[in-house]
Amino acid sequence: MSLRVAVVGSGPAGIYTAEALVKQSAEPVEVDVLERLPTPYGLVRYGVAPDHTSIKSIANYLRRVLELPQVRFLGGVTLGEHLSVADLLGSYDAVVYATGAMVDRRLGVPGEDLPGSVAATDFVNWYCGHPDVSPDRFVLDSPEVAVIGVGNVAVDVVRVLAKTAGELASTDVPHDVLERLAASQVKAIHMIGRRGPEHAKFTLKELRELGELANADVCVRPDEAVVPGGDFPRQVRGNIDVLQSWAARAPVGRPRRLDVRFWMKPVEILGTDRVEGLRLERTRLTEEGRVVGTGVFETLPVGMVLRSVGYQSVPLPGVPFSEATMTVPNEAGRVREREYVAGWLKRGPTGVIGTNKSDAAETVRTLLADLADRQRVRQAPIDEVLAARGVAPVTYRQWQAIEAAEEALARTLGRGERVKLVGLEAMNEAMNEAMNEAMLRGETPA
Ligand code: NAP
Repeated sequence: MSLRVAVVGSGPAGIYTAEALVKQSAEPVEVDVLERLPTPYGLVRYGVAPDHTSIKSIANYLRRVLELPQVRFLGGVTLGEHLSVADLLGSYDAVVYATGAMVDRRLGVPGEDLPGSVAATDFVNWYCGHPDVSPDRFVLDSPEVAVIGVGNVAVDVVRVLAKTAGELASTDVPHDVLERLAASQVKAIHMIGRRGPEHAKFTLKELRELGELANADVCVRPDEAVVPGGDFPRQVRGNIDVLQSWAARAPVGRPRRLDVRFWMKPVEILGTDRVEGLRLERTRLTEEGRVVGTGVFETLPVGMVLRSVGYQSVPLPGVPFSEATMTVPNEAGRVREREYVAGWLKRGPTGVIGTNKSDAAETVRTLLADLADRQRVRQAPIDEVLAARGVAPVTYRQWQAIEAAEEALARTLGRGERVKLVGLEAMNEAMNEAMNEAMLRGETPA
């Protein structure tokens, strides 16, 4: 009898876990990758910016894992809705949770919930065509927009706001979203850091891309670009040099303008029915390194505030969760007997996609060592459990039908390799059409 493992979540962490199980296990292994959406790849599909095609191509690597004979994709299956932890433990030798970090951290300032104050997670999901966010969710009708935070997500959001729709036409941005980007009224984007250039979280490569925007001048205030002397790590030194070079150059009159600000923290989002401004306070660091206000304020006349201050995980029903770290408590990936965790849910939302590969490998080492001598008792095959509840998981082949429909849509629209289908309805339609065509050809639909 082979070792049977359920992986919950088909983003990079989940799929790297499946790969590590196949590679590391000395005995035969069968891995089911369960996913609440009909589509795999998690943040690679719904988080990586559409114009970052080389990062998006990680999907090609993840695809090869899903196509391994030992691995199965079961889409449209939600833990806590269709299955419980007890169900999983009743059907598999072990379970690995890898559901990532799906919601935004809060700012904790007045006005945060006004219309026009938007979580970066929502905005990113919007331009990535996530089925949870409708294409008509955002209208970019404000000439000035603030993006709070100076991490790589903030940089992605800024780039999408700064580029022309023409520059994004060859990406997989949903067509309705592209039309809204084409109608954007945004002229000025303010990206706000609460500390200095030496503390910014973005990486050098991503920062440099902002300087190459054809449609926007990038401006940094010389007084905010000053940093104390001293040795900085190479990446940080690189960021400082780039920012200081921007501080020394004048705008050349491009249609949009990006102001990268430092030492300013949001204290209030202003407005009655919707966002009408953002009140900032100049900051400094205390001797202990805490950010404090200086009593000097400034108001930006923005109609939209994008809060990009980090992601966080959400608890899974029946799975331990620490509110202090917002992760699942674990020891080298072990949560409880036969339960494991990998990726952002295990260590928090840090690192690049590749970081999840070594992270998943560690979890799998723990799992295989724990289960090496364990007697295998298997009760109910998961397919029967799901069928008894009327749940028909989306198969890998059905997902391929969605992919084929996205490629066909891109051809019809004369846009790039793929245009995302938006909404579960459109995806179901694509799957049904493919199934009908397969039946007409006399094939068995899988
Ligand atoms: P992040 O790197 O943690 O950056 C969060 C930013 O928000 C920081 O500048 C932080 O400032 C700021 N912040 C936090 N709380 C704040 C508050 N209350 N008020 C004002 N500012 C606040 O998070 P992220 O940008 O969401 O990125 C998540 C992970 O995904 C990172 O590892 C990132 O590198 C990765 N990612 C990579 C790429 C890429 O490789 N192209 C693209 C997107 C994301 P402080 O430092 O002062 O806390």
